[in-house]
Amino acid sequence: MARTAIVTGSTSGIGEGIARALAASGCNVMINGFGDAAAIEKIRASIEADGKVKCVYSPADLTKPEQIEAMFATAREKLGPVDIIVNNAGVQHVSPIEDFPVDKWNLIINLNLNAAFHTTRLAFPEMKSRKWGRIINIASAHALVASPFKAAYVSAKHGLLGMTKTIALEGATFGIRCNAICPGYVHTPLVDGQINDTAKARNMTPEQVINNVILAAQPTKEFVKVTDIAQLAVFLTTDAANQINGAALSIDGGWVAQ
Ligand code: NAD
Repeated sequence: MARTAIVTGSTSGIGEGIARALAASGCNVMINGFGDAAAIEKIRASIEADGKVKCVYSPADLTKPEQIEAMFATAREKLGPVDIIVNNAGVQHVSPIEDFPVDKWNLIINLNLNAAFHTTRLAFPEMKSRKWGRIINIASAHALVASPFKAAYVSAKHGLLGMTKTIALEGATFGIRCNAICPGYVHTPLVDGQINDTAKARNMTPEQVINNVILAAQPTKEFVKVTDIAQLAVFLTTDAANQINGAALSIDGGWVAQ
């Protein structure tokens, strides 16, 4: 029987890659996120066709708990009980703390941290009664170390890692596993935004920002690939990963080894 997975923030970047990989592994998938309707429909239809599974789109804004509840109701109705959640949706804002816009702080904490609490509390009773569940939180190297000017993001990701450990303990005897994937830099639209902002702020070219700022922290001097993260996420849903629980899995070219 095919499993059902919800991947939040999967109309772009890492989430889209994870949704594609889970579908290829045989899961029915709910995708979610913002963007152009025609582009999202193209992604949905191609996931369905390539994976030979069902793929349903939810436009839920994950900063709004009632929309997360509606997303779960749709997933259950169209795909069945939710077996796998990938909490991936996230945004970034870079600013010195004294200038950090309060609305950006609230947005980042709501989306990057609180949304994972809501998806988990909604999925947990069913996962417990079915004695199987996988919750994968897409955290960051910034769940383990900080960088200046990213107060909200670093706080949310450190919090997400704490939540991951707690969920892992609460689900351990119910067949539920919860882990965090902690990527270094991946070249997605989220990072493109940072490259452009930094280039403007520091009067550098985008290439200089990539080589001297972004990849400065990453010993391999290479971006992490979306597909690398997607394959790790799929592995965490397999039986071989059954004893991996409450872990922070770094996939960052050695960044946090320093
Ligand atoms: P992205 O900008 O390409 O994708 C973000 C996704 O979240 C999109 O689908 C977007 O529509 C969705 N989204 C934004 N606001 C939303 C909301 N309110 N409700 C629902 N969906 C919303 O970003 P990405 O780089 O693929 O990042 C995905 C995750 O990976 C984030 O949690 C990010 O913090 C984390 N991460 C990224 C990197 C990186 O270098 N790109 C590194 C470490 C961790």
